[in-house]
Amino acid sequence: NTADIGLIGLAVMGQNLALNIAEKGFRVSVYNRTSTKTDDTINRFQLEQKNCLGKLQGFYSLESFVRSLKRPRKVIIMVKAGSPVDATISTLENYLEPGDLIVDGGNEWYENTQRRAEALSSKGILYMGMGVSGGEDGARHGPSLMPGGPVEAWNLVNDILNKIAAQVDDGPCVTYIGPGGSGNYVKMVHNGIEYADMQLIGEVYDILRTLSQSSHFDGQLYEIFERWNGGDLQSFLIEITSQILQFKEKDNLVVDRILDQSGSKGTGMWTIQEAAKRGIPISTISAALDARYLSSLKDLRVSLSRQLHGIGTTERNTIISFYGWNDFEFLISELEKALFAAKICCYAQGMALIQKASLDEQWQLDCGEIARIWKGGCIIRARFLDRIKEAYKRQPNLLSLLEDEHFVRDLNNCQTALRRVVSGASLLGIPVPALASALSYYDSCRKEILSSSQLIQAQRDFFGAHTYKRLDKEGVFHSRWSEDGSSIPISNSS
Ligand code: NDP
Repeated sequence: NTADIGLIGLAVMGQNLALNIAEKGFRVSVYNRTSTKTDDTINRFQLEQKNCLGKLQGFYSLESFVRSLKRPRKVIIMVKAGSPVDATISTLENYLEPGDLIVDGGNEWYENTQRRAEALSSKGILYMGMGVSGGEDGARHGPSLMPGGPVEAWNLVNDILNKIAAQVDDGPCVTYIGPGGSGNYVKMVHNGIEYADMQLIGEVYDILRTLSQSSHFDGQLYEIFERWNGGDLQSFLIEITSQILQFKEKDNLVVDRILDQSGSKGTGMWTIQEAAKRGIPISTISAALDARYLSSLKDLRVSLSRQLHGIGTTERNTIISFYGWNDFEFLISELEKALFAAKICCYAQGMALIQKASLDEQWQLDCGEIARIWKGGCIIRARFLDRIKEAYKRQPNLLSLLEDEHFVRDLNNCQTALRRVVSGASLLGIPVPALASALSYYDSCRKEILSSSQLIQAQRDFFGAHTYKRLDKEGVFHSRWSEDGSSIPISNSS
């Protein structure tokens, strides 16, 4: 029993994480239900071991795997989320003893983690749910890690996690997130933000692609993203977009040959469900998920493309010159600002959801630290996250990121561009659901009086006597809408 840690589940993520652990100088034991994956992992370790300071040993029975681990035993499981995790735990727990720790690194529903932690705690076994982001490459060379659960569990593995995580200027991209299923929760919201970030970039790309065909643009689209990657928009997603737009088959871009139906695996949907449950508006994330669903209606879209009208060429040219977008450089600069403003709105929504869950569940999450550990390793890594971290440092109890003085300045500077891009794209018939929802979020948030809500309250009271409160008086009121319209106090308490 000499191994520092064990890892079960040797598909893409588990195998790469195991090699990462071995590379950083730890002894890791590995096990997979299907033995060929264990063989693959051992073979890969043999090829890569010259770079590894530690050791990797494969096992074909769970019992011998557990016996190889130092006490208290620490086991990371990286299997498919849901029932495979339950199946793995139910066998594994037979070989563990009080004080041992299981860390589930999958994209798990946070309540499953809480249920398992509770069941295992009666046997004295510690349990953590840890979000892992960064895909295959992140797992191998440094992911962003979001561990949540009992703090004693974190103390048992933080030396290993600190070493295997991505490293950025202000430390490793891992921190103790908080108790319960908070690690999974934060990873879930990370993925929701990722959906929106990708959709926003996709919409801006659509505008660029459409207009580059009709305006004077001598360059290549990838150069625009390359340029943006040197500024405020610097991020992994902008960087890979620039790379994707360079891949060609003969003279055609590969991206142009890809079927236009975007898939999803469920964490985006969970984020929307959670936000709805907690009453937090995350319209840009929601628009991004809807856009994926809509993309899958390919047959309907093909059929409707022959029936429903957009605009004609003359109108189109008029709109382009009205917006000044014949000047492609000007268009690029407006899109850059619009994308930045929308990105602020999208992250503000995601962080607001994390804050609400933290409050409801009494997790006491540190949003600044969360932004910091997303700076490296994960899919949404970006320079921008440093500014979010700084915003929470200035005001730890910030109600909304939109309130931060630096973001206020940025939004005021970029809102006209966002408005022009959303309106221009809409007139041109280019769908921009995420950009438009970000703009509406922005406008709704900055409106002192929402007339639409006043009317909705009146309607609710009209048809259902749901009552309303007033701006000018304390209390709760109901109007006799179908009689004299007089407003009657129902109660004086607010
Ligand atoms: P998969 O999600 O494809 O899961 C495959 C692994 O699960 C294999 O080891 C498989 O074992 C095991 N497994 C499946 N069913 C069972 C079962 N009933 N009992 C025991 N083991 C079972 O692997 P990934 O590496 O892609 O992902 C692992 C986890 O990490 C998932 O939760 C995923 O959501 C998450 N994740 C994945 C990312 C990615 O980019 N792929 C990124 C971040 C997180 P066997 O070989 O025997 O079938």
